[in-house]
Amino acid sequence: PTCHLQGAVDDCCNCTYAAVHEINERHVHPVVSELVKTAFFRYFKVNIYCDCPLWPDDSMCSLRACSVCECEEGEVPKPWLAAERGFRAPAGGDCHGARQPDCNTADCAIEMESQVDQTLEPGMKKKLRHLKGWRGINNPWMADGDGDEEYLYINLLNNPERYTGYKGEHAHRIWSAIYDTIACARDAAGECAEARVFYRLVSGMHSSISTHLSAYWLLDEEKGSWGPNMEEFERRLGTPEAAERVSNLHFAYLLVLRAVVKAGPLLAGFDYDTGLRDEDRATRELVKSLLANPAMLQSCPLPFDEARLWKGQHGAALKAQLQGAFKNITRIMDCVGCEKCKLWGKLQTLGVATALKILFASHDCAAPAPGAPAPPPPPPSEDLSLERNEAIALVNLLARFSNSLHLHRELSARLGGAAAAV
Ligand code: FAD
Repeated sequence: PTCHLQGAVDDCCNCTYAAVHEINERHVHPVVSELVKTAFFRYFKVNIYCDCPLWPDDSMCSLRACSVCECEEGEVPKPWLAAERGFRAPAGGDCHGARQPDCNTADCAIEMESQVDQTLEPGMKKKLRHLKGWRGINNPWMADGDGDEEYLYINLLNNPERYTGYKGEHAHRIWSAIYDTIACARDAAGECAEARVFYRLVSGMHSSISTHLSAYWLLDEEKGSWGPNMEEFERRLGTPEAAERVSNLHFAYLLVLRAVVKAGPLLAGFDYDTGLRDEDRATRELVKSLLANPAMLQSCPLPFDEARLWKGQHGAALKAQLQGAFKNITRIMDCVGCEKCKLWGKLQTLGVATALKILFASHDCAAPAPGAPAPPPPPPSEDLSLERNEAIALVNLLARFSNSLHLHRELSARLGGAAAAV
């Protein structure tokens, strides 16, 4: 089915499909799939129960597979909760109401440990508002929150991205709204490389979601067994007509990989403290082996060349326009009518927004000469910083795309396609 995908991935600096798979299978997939299991990367803070700003009849999917389970009490890393208490603290509060970052009495410590999401009483929920979470972060590609959101911590490992039964008109309405937003931006911007990048990135994300739901399908509801649904996989991603979607998945992977490599110095120096010393040490080691691997990009030194974008006379205006369009897409995510889909949709759009923020924070990259060795990752621009949730979303997004490439190769081989040959 993917025999159409040969040679280089369009828009990606001569990286071939074969090189992408080699990089993924040898260097990225084995590491990043372990990294996302660590305490730091498995808890994502997100507002799931929020109003849809677009349609009044926003019904939610009531199937069991659609819902998310929140974190167990006491599960969320304590340093994170402690920092939030500090972040929210107005002067002179008490344990229960206004919080004290330096609270060290026994009563306060107990209070702190017990104030963890799932069991949040209504009063506490109120206090969680205004915290930086999925929104409200310093990211020009994310819509601002309205300051009235309630965030929960979700353990991603307990809520895997897989088939949920969310489909039909409701799901189509979301995808249509997303592609219409892109089409409007494209009409306004004209057929330019930037708008094409934007479309391919979102389409690649859509392909990745389709790959996961086809690969982890509910095969037997009574027994609760999950596995690949080859018909669904073939229908969505295995036909010659779907080759463009699969190509967009490769493109999106390369763009995100480039962003992760570029943010290498920031990620290497990140504060991975979750209070679990051994696990945090493993996190740092895995981050190091993902980033400090000279062999990783040998066959594809520059996975994506962001320096070629926003160059023209109207570059700044175009960037503002596409930022506005992507912000709208982040708002559309509030309307996804299935909790689990919303969770992963929000995580992935934040991941994309983070990749774009990293790539376009500075224009310091030039394509290496053909055959030249892989350049060291350029330092991120001085004003670039990442918040914890952004780092979590970015790395999980890379893991999603990486797993999709891995699954796509495996399932295509089962269908007897040529993907296994690339
Ligand atoms: P859809 O996937 O709904 O696609 C709609 C139309 O978009 C297609 O008819 C086609 O014209 C076009 N299209 C399809 N793929 C691409 C592509 N890659 N690039 C460009 N255009 C494309 N369902 C789950 O079971 N589990 C999930 O975790 C999940 N997460 C979701 C997250 C979000 C944000 C959304 C909006 C939906 C999610 N869904 C999930 C639903 C799922 O994506 C599909 O909408 C559903 O399975 C119905 O699929 P479909 O075959 O009708 O086509």
